Amino acid sequence: MKLPVYLDNHATTPMDPEVLKVMLPYFTDVFGNAASRNHEYGWTAEAAVEKARGQVAALIGATDKEVIFTSGATESNNLAIIGAAEMYKDKGNHIITTPVEHKAVLDTCHYLESKGYQITFLPVDATGRVNPEDVRKAITDKTILVSVMMANNEIGSVNPIAAIGAVCKEKGVLFHTDAVQGAGKVEIDVQKMGIDLLSLTAHKIYGPKGIGALYVRRKAPRVRLAPLVHGGGHERGMRSGTLNVPGIVGFGKAAELARVNLPSENARLSKMRDRMWAGLQAELDELHLNGHPTERLPNNLNVSFAYVEGESLMMGMKEIAVSSGSACTSASLEPSYVLKAVGVGDELAHSSIRFGLGRFTTDEEIDFAMKKTIQTVKKLRDLSPLYEMVKEGVDLRSVQWTGHP
Ligand SMILES: *Cc1c(COP(=O)(O)O)cnc(C)c1O
Repeated sequence: MKLPVYLDNHATTPMDPEVLKVMLPYFTDVFGNAASRNHEYGWTAEAAVEKARGQVAALIGATDKEVIFTSGATESNNLAIIGAAEMYKDKGNHIITTPVEHKAVLDTCHYLESKGYQITFLPVDATGRVNPEDVRKAITDKTILVSVMMANNEIGSVNPIAAIGAVCKEKGVLFHTDAVQGAGKVEIDVQKMGIDLLSLTAHKIYGPKGIGALYVRRKAPRVRLAPLVHGGGHERGMRSGTLNVPGIVGFGKAAELARVNLPSENARLSKMRDRMWAGLQAELDELHLNGHPTERLPNNLNVSFAYVEGESLMMGMKEIAVSSGSACTSASLEPSYVLKAVGVGDELAHSSIRFGLGRFTTDEEIDFAMKKTIQTVKKLRDLSPLYEMVKEGVDLRSVQWTGHP
């Protein structure tokens, strides 16, 4: 077992060896530019790109031509949102999103706000999910786009995407979803779900970093986007630049593996995750599960450990690579904006841990992580006067705290 145990698969995933294997020739022997139309080198590269495009399309129920390769989901989200905002500005200037989106969506919307667009940040419920009826109520005759993530990267909640898509279709508004965390975990069908734009990235599905895609619907309706990057007209004019052929080939393989293994992998991951959650609950009390109990990613466990100090918790967990509910900004330790948006208080947010399991997580690693977490939390609670008071039956809300003299 390699230490620290990697349980941060929402941040990135290790590349699958099968993915690396198919990529390698494209760094050396098969190095052509996919846009070189005059010779064999170019044709071979182009064929490899088109095969991968098909593999990515198959993961989401799209047709090949609807897949635009980008540098990753940050770019895909920017292209979807800014590209649509600019293209449809004569129709309206209103965009609807949520406060729990990834920064690549939030910051892009804030940028558009500074350019005069109106952005509605729809509140989410206490499990982090969007109510499709709230989307309906928020749509006005100026609304051009709704952007709601498929699954949350912190608390793992999965949104009712098909229902939101149906509302958008009914109202004639474009629907974008950041499906980075849903890919390979949620069965995606852009037709059935009424999705017009969908962002993906390879490095969250055991592919390489720096390559992603944006699905852009071609029919009913035909979606048009203003490009962010100009020059050469690659990717149907929406994203110019020489294609990253090895990255694309790897992304294609990763998408194929994700699609083929989805049912078995979900079963394996949720079983391990549930075992971990049961194990923690058996040994520790005062735990809070963040996110939805059932409508959640199979590999996500986000728990607040009440009465432990956040920083000490992370310090005690150094042998497990996890993410905490504190977002380290340059100046201060801010509680996660996602946990804040679902109503978790600052104290609890700081004592929250996101366990993100993955394809290569083993039972042995889960046992280790469980043991380590239980040990650390018990040790910190032994030092906590608050926890001691709670155990003695004191209602903390009734305590009159006095300041120091
Ligand atoms: C990781 C992530 C992104 C960013 O993807 P990159 O390819 O790293 O730019 C966007 N959205 C979500 C939900 C993510 O988890």
